[in-house]
Amino acid sequence: MISIEEATKIVLDHSKSYGEEMVPLSEATGRILRQDIHADRDFPPFTRVTMDGIAIRYNAYANGLRKFLIEGMQAAGTPQRTLLNPEGCLEVMTGAILPENTDTVIRYEDVKIENGTARLQANGIQKGQNAHFRAFDRKEGERLIPAGAIISPAEVGVAATVGLPSLKVAKLPTVAIISTGDELVEVEQTPEPHQIRTSNVYTIASTLYRWGIRPDRLHIADDMDATKAKLSACLEQYDVLILSGGVSKGRFDYIPAALNALGVTKLLHKVKQRPGKPFWFGESPNGKIIFALPGNPVSAFMCAMRYLRPWLRKSMGLAPIDHSYAVLAEDFRFKPDLTYFLQVRTFVDPDTGRLMAVPAEGHGSGDLANLVDADAFLELPRGKDKFKKGKVFPLIPYR
Ligand code: AMP
Ligand code: MG
Repeated sequence: MISIEEATKIVLDHSKSYGEEMVPLSEATGRILRQDIHADRDFPPFTRVTMDGIAIRYNAYANGLRKFLIEGMQAAGTPQRTLLNPEGCLEVMTGAILPENTDTVIRYEDVKIENGTARLQANGIQKGQNAHFRAFDRKEGERLIPAGAIISPAEVGVAATVGLPSLKVAKLPTVAIISTGDELVEVEQTPEPHQIRTSNVYTIASTLYRWGIRPDRLHIADDMDATKAKLSACLEQYDVLILSGGVSKGRFDYIPAALNALGVTKLLHKVKQRPGKPFWFGESPNGKIIFALPGNPVSAFMCAMRYLRPWLRKSMGLAPIDHSYAVLAEDFRFKPDLTYFLQVRTFVDPDTGRLMAVPAEGHGSGDLANLVDADAFLELPRGKDKFKKGKVFPLIPYR
């Protein structure tokens, strides 16, 4: 049995790259950008009026002028006009290009317009006010977004404004999520008294949707030949197999033996952790990655969050772990020499602003209802049995 640190290293040392693809902007959210995005023009591309009002030459105001003859109108979306009389003004609208020979905008609220003139009603006019000057934010050619960014609505907006209807992103692996066990029936079915509905495949699939991965869901019966046949087909068809169940010591836990018979290399089996001790991880000769997670729902979910997610992040070119921490809110005891992934409910302490984690243990790794009452796992290290209130530990949030 190995430590979680060793297990993490083995998993991350086997990250993969699945290449790149173009996706339309409308489908890019959540994907990982694989190109730098540069400004195709200055930001803003022209000096933009930011208030409805009049545009003047500041010099005229500085020289004491308070009444400006209106020469005309500069609306948004019209080509740039030129102020002819240095003591005149043009009416300007938000989003319009600032007229040539003007440098300052006075909002309508601060002028009175009568008989074709605008009379100033306010003091303290500043040169350049209410104008967003060309290239003030970014210059043409400047890198706006580096490759490797997670595409959020902010990146989508920038890509649209520089004229990119599609983006180069990290290609996603094809994934099969496979349940095992003769006690399992489909969600639509009514279980017999000795049966349960499969939930793990849905939980795990749900952790992948965030990245845009749409896994296939499959099932394998507790039968060695069927297990081998199905796994063999999946190893051809998919980049990643995520199994749940069948990796413990039960007489029908065929997964490790079947994978071994198919030539898959076992990279790890059993980790000093609770839940999730029976976790198995391997790679096939043709480079397919296999996460064989324990069957218990809390274990499967925890392993998906703690091992599968960092592996995926690294495979897509992100830092594997986006470190989160929380303060243990109550004294806690855990005896076994295992890393304990304690289910917790978190809240922000209004006095300190710190994220607090309240133990919400539930009734073990089969208690999937408790996952709904908790919102994260707090990673309590091995080699201790008492954990003091106020201490900070790594947190794996899942909401
Ligand atoms: P196993 O590792 O196959 O011995 O399974 C451990 C426990 O997890 C058993 O109680 C199984 O019924 C349960 N289990 C296995 N697979 C699933 C699944 N897909 N959904 C819900 N529970 C499962
Ligand atoms: Mg089973």
